[in-house]
Amino acid sequence: MMLNKCTERIWVLPPDPATDRPSLGYIQGDRHRVMVDAGNSPAHALLFFQALEAQGLPQPNLCVLTHSHWDHTYGLAELRHRGVYTIACRKTQEDLQNMALWSWTEEAVADRLRRGLDVPFCTTMILEEYGTYDALEIVPADLVFEDLLTLDLGGITLNLHQINGPHTPDGVLVHIPEEKTLFLGDADGNPLLRVPARQFLEELSNLRKVLESLNPLQVIPGHGPPETFEDTLVEMEASAKEAAQELYRIPYHEAPLP
Ligand SMILES: [Zn+2]
Repeated sequence: MMLNKCTERIWVLPPDPATDRPSLGYIQGDRHRVMVDAGNSPAHALLFFQALEAQGLPQPNLCVLTHSHWDHTYGLAELRHRGVYTIACRKTQEDLQNMALWSWTEEAVADRLRRGLDVPFCTTMILEEYGTYDALEIVPADLVFEDLLTLDLGGITLNLHQINGPHTPDGVLVHIPEEKTLFLGDADGNPLLRVPARQFLEELSNLRKVLESLNPLQVIPGHGPPETFEDTLVEMEASAKEAAQELYRIPYHEAPLP
């Protein structure tokens, strides 16, 4: 699998729904190179590094996380092994530190599902990706920020905006103003657990305001191909219309099949 070039300085390894692998981004500054999200496993991260090498692109020295969900973070062990420093917002870091203490025996997994701390969609996909829970190694980030972090990569700027979004309370929007590009993560997606529709609508509207103030041309979603900002807004509008008819917003993996 190859990285697709999105702008002069931005590439993306496309997502793979078979085991819920998200998009992995690559941003090339003159001094620093940044990976966006760590992959859902060391194997996924390795695929990214191999694709970079095959395309003659130097390895990243930094990684930023869009949120703590397993599919975006469980590849971190491979990054630590390669000496790549990882940056997360405080809420993401707290989630990672909690998950690092999780036991992965069948009883422990079943117990978390009963208590609503995890959902079957994720535990099933983890088994699809790894084959067994035994190989899981959850690693926290190296650098932690709150609200906003700006990185000068050399000739290009990276702004990390923390948002309490509809998908998770630990969303980070990765904005590259010079390239008019924004990595959205899953920020505009449904939550993993059902929430009151009113809460979802409020968080969606807050996210929309932040996105409109950043006004990118191109948006790279966590689980889809790059799209125009107008497309993102149309999707968010459709999602708001649906939620306005509901009492509760249902997680996407529980939605009835079309
Ligand atoms: Zn997610």
